[in-house]
Amino acid sequence: MSGEARIAWDPQARRFAPLHQEEAGIMSVAMAGALVESLPACDPVGLRRILTARTAAEAEPFRRAAEQVLLQHCGDSVRLRGLIEFSNRCVCDCHYCGIRRSNRRVGRYTLSLADIVETARWCATKGYGSVVLQAGERRDGRFVAFVEQAVCAIKAATRTPHQPEGLGITLCVGEQTADTYARWFHAGAHRYLLRMESFSPALFGRLHPPAQTHAARLACLRMLKEIGYQVGTGVMIGLPGQTPDDLVEDLLAFRDLGVDMLGMGPYIPHVDAPLEGQGEIASDAVRLQMALNMITAARLLMPTLNIAATTALQALAGDGREQGLRHGANVIMPQVTPPRVRKLYTLYDGKPCLDDNPEQCASCVEGRIRSVGRRVLWHAWGDSRHYAERMRVGPAQEDLR
Ligand code: SF4
Repeated sequence: MSGEARIAWDPQARRFAPLHQEEAGIMSVAMAGALVESLPACDPVGLRRILTARTAAEAEPFRRAAEQVLLQHCGDSVRLRGLIEFSNRCVCDCHYCGIRRSNRRVGRYTLSLADIVETARWCATKGYGSVVLQAGERRDGRFVAFVEQAVCAIKAATRTPHQPEGLGITLCVGEQTADTYARWFHAGAHRYLLRMESFSPALFGRLHPPAQTHAARLACLRMLKEIGYQVGTGVMIGLPGQTPDDLVEDLLAFRDLGVDMLGMGPYIPHVDAPLEGQGEIASDAVRLQMALNMITAARLLMPTLNIAATTALQALAGDGREQGLRHGANVIMPQVTPPRVRKLYTLYDGKPCLDDNPEQCASCVEGRIRSVGRRVLWHAWGDSRHYAERMRVGPAQEDLR
């Protein structure tokens, strides 16, 4: 038995402590329940214990505790964000990414404004309360103006009796200046997702060329928060050379930064990316379990966050996103990118839902959510309760349904 399995929550001492040999083993549901009470004092040893559960059976007490915490703090509804991948042009060269600048084997596209607005309008009609506008990174004036225009146009085109302010808009377009972030915020975007991929400076350095720095990305996260966005980040799990301590560092960074949303998934190599084959990675099953463990740990540590069950989970298991929901996630991003360009936006190999049209994705997603006893929050932005608390405003009534 590994040393990691021989610890448990000590309710008297209110900390994790090593067990005697005869007590060592899988943590009981009661112990996991005590972990929930310990949230404010949750220490790295406890987090490490959750993250190193290698099988579903070993992870089950933690999963159950995370599910309880989710239901208690955020309810049973799942919030939808229609995912519009509007351009795969990118000035960056992340070593793990299939659409990075130096990959000449991928055809490039940018959707027209009309296509973007039409797709958003379709989401509003379907009852998706929000969209995510995602693209590779560009910082030129033309791109900045285009995103601003798209945000304004979506807001104007998606006002309905259910949502008089139009759809909620999350942007995911990388590192920008404070002026640009402020421009887009004032245009109507109110959430921003900027994944670090790893908060460990050493690991970040191995994932990116020297021009892309850990410090610059972290500064962007802080800027976004100051401007007033609901801020999301995330990491990849199961990277070559990544250790459980790196993942603990990620979790503590989420908490210390006070982010409102998380989008995390297992590392999945891309055949045209230089990271592919650079060091050993765990099997698909183990990386999936590790990613689920991260969702569990994040939910236990920060009960009111919005956490996405990402498509990458589904790339490793057909029911990966449902498993994500059962481990503490409460957001799903149905694919609504027009099918004709979807295959060109592949950050990793084996991305699912490439051939389904948006109608098929809509009915599939609702069925998946219901299959795990949860329900869809229709026609609502579905904001993060964590954000409402840190801004000291109550969550919107629509989000409480
Ligand atoms: S991960 Fe994002 S920023 Fe990095 S190369 Fe890919 S699209 Fe560009």
